[in-house]
Amino acid sequence: MRHLLDIADLSPADLAGLLDDADGFVEVLARPIPKVPALRGKTVTTAFFEASTRTRLSFERAAKTLSADTMTFAPGTSSLSKGESLKDTVLTLQAMGSDLLVMRHQAVGAAERAAEWLSIPVVNGGDGAHQHPTQALLDALAIRRRFGTLEGLQIAIVGDIRHSRVARSDLLAFSKLGATVTLVAPRTLLPVTFADWPVRVSSSLDEVLPELDVVYLLRVQTERGGASVFPSLAEYTTRFGMTRERRSRLKRDAVVMHPGPMNRGVEIADEVADDPDALVLEQVSLGVAVRMAVLFRLLGGESDA
Ligand code: ASP
Repeated sequence: MRHLLDIADLSPADLAGLLDDADGFVEVLARPIPKVPALRGKTVTTAFFEASTRTRLSFERAAKTLSADTMTFAPGTSSLSKGESLKDTVLTLQAMGSDLLVMRHQAVGAAERAAEWLSIPVVNGGDGAHQHPTQALLDALAIRRRFGTLEGLQIAIVGDIRHSRVARSDLLAFSKLGATVTLVAPRTLLPVTFADWPVRVSSSLDEVLPELDVVYLLRVQTERGGASVFPSLAEYTTRFGMTRERRSRLKRDAVVMHPGPMNRGVEIADEVADDPDALVLEQVSLGVAVRMAVLFRLLGGESDA
């Protein structure tokens, strides 16, 4: 593995191998002093051209736990405002001694372009509505740790599929690992074509609810126009929101997931988000271990962890 750009590039065995490594790093993170020297001397640079709370901080925490140094490129205060191109920007970050670049950009394919320009590994931290591979890995890890396997599980991904890189990444990872994925959304929030996706589709959350093991709720992506294709947010909630009442109709051991940031009261009710059974914060914690596994794999660190 030279870069991590798209879940489509990974085989089921690659996915399982990364999750196995991440399981090992969960144990490292639980130690009294959660630090290993695996990537000492390496520099991990993050360049996020789009907003992020979890992904960027999670990569920084992952890099530091592996004893790598980190550099953070901040687009808002950079020479982008003087018209510097994306290519010149990432070449500059490489010339400064970055050993790996984690990049998020609003344009589909941006990380892939960077990977063509650079000789260091590139990790896609989200490109437009296309891919967010480390989100899919952490979600798969959260599910595997809860259920032991994804094989045979019924997973629904609910909501704004059209604008969601999380949906595009997760559905590939979940199905490669043996789960059956159902997309639940109104036609207006589905992409124009999805014929070659390994999924079933339903427009009724209530119909599929009783058979699900995992309900994966997506954020309505207001910044990508996700709210405008629906008459009102209240109507969205009526049909697709995970209310306490819907939660009570799930199987006993079913779990509710959300990638964050949550629109509380829209796709997820407060009581469901704050329920100790929701996996939302567990997803965040496991994100660090998964990103350690990715950095470790791409930077070829020696393991004494
Ligand atoms: N944080 C995730 C992403 O950047 C999900 C979201 O924003 O809804 O794609």
